[in-house]
Amino acid sequence: MRRTSCLYLLLLLTLACGTPKRKVLQATNAPIIRSDTVKINTESVTLALPSIGEAAVTEAQAVAIPPVMSTENRVQLLMRTGINKNADWTEAIHYDVRKPNFVIIHHTAQHSLSQTVRTFQLEHTKVSAHYVVGKDGRVVQMLNDYLRSWHAGRSKWGNITDMNSVSLGIELDNNGREPFPEAQVQSLMTLLDTLKTKYQIPFTNFIGHADIAPTRKDDPSMFFPWKRLAERGFGVWYDESNLVPAPSNFNHVDALRIIGYDVTNLRAAIIAFKRKFIVTDVSEVLTEYDRRVLYNLYRRYF
Ligand SMILES: [Zn+2]
Repeated sequence: MRRTSCLYLLLLLTLACGTPKRKVLQATNAPIIRSDTVKINTESVTLALPSIGEAAVTEAQAVAIPPVMSTENRVQLLMRTGINKNADWTEAIHYDVRKPNFVIIHHTAQHSLSQTVRTFQLEHTKVSAHYVVGKDGRVVQMLNDYLRSWHAGRSKWGNITDMNSVSLGIELDNNGREPFPEAQVQSLMTLLDTLKTKYQIPFTNFIGHADIAPTRKDDPSMFFPWKRLAERGFGVWYDESNLVPAPSNFNHVDALRIIGYDVTNLRAAIIAFKRKFIVTDVSEVLTEYDRRVLYNLYRRYF
């Protein structure tokens, strides 16, 4: 029998029998059982559901699951603990875990690819990224794109306050005080191209960690080639041949905010903006030239 037919039959039976639906449908205190077939009412209806786990696990057992778990089991546990116990439960079949819509670029501030990979595998660090790109262009993926990595931390872009939930994190092996080798940049751009196409990520949504956390972060550093990336369709850049003066009523605070910067700490937002677009001067003062750049970006993209 088709699944939808089963659901209707189940609902009809529930109503016809006058059974409180909470007893039938809600999984409140029932053991969470992994099976390709979940028996909801053993005497009347069997409802086929997709497999959700490796073994039969009760809620009590789930809480006590030891820290050494496979990624798959961690996801399954998260799904179970995310179930609202006050709502009735039956499973929809069309969903993703999530879909990334931003790419956040970082530098590792460490000394090697292997050091970074190890950092992301230590229990106490509580940080991760989807990809790490080595100086030689080697790309190591450490999380499925559909999972939420812990790379952004406390951050904000526009009105989004949980960047981890909407983004992919890419770490570049770089100590923050050195240029990014050509092989690394080329590899990154190939990766970005794949991700942009696969998830239809808007070009304006390729940004840096410092953009979304200007009071805490400066990565990727001023060595990062944002202009080259923008020319390939990742991020924005201004038109250097058309830097007209901004009108006297141009509000630079509003412009920064409209681009995405959190201007709660205006000084930090200006420095982040200048580190990315002015590069040679990262003071907190917005010069006439800086205002032209900001105005150009604002007019061009936002
Ligand atoms: Zn970072």
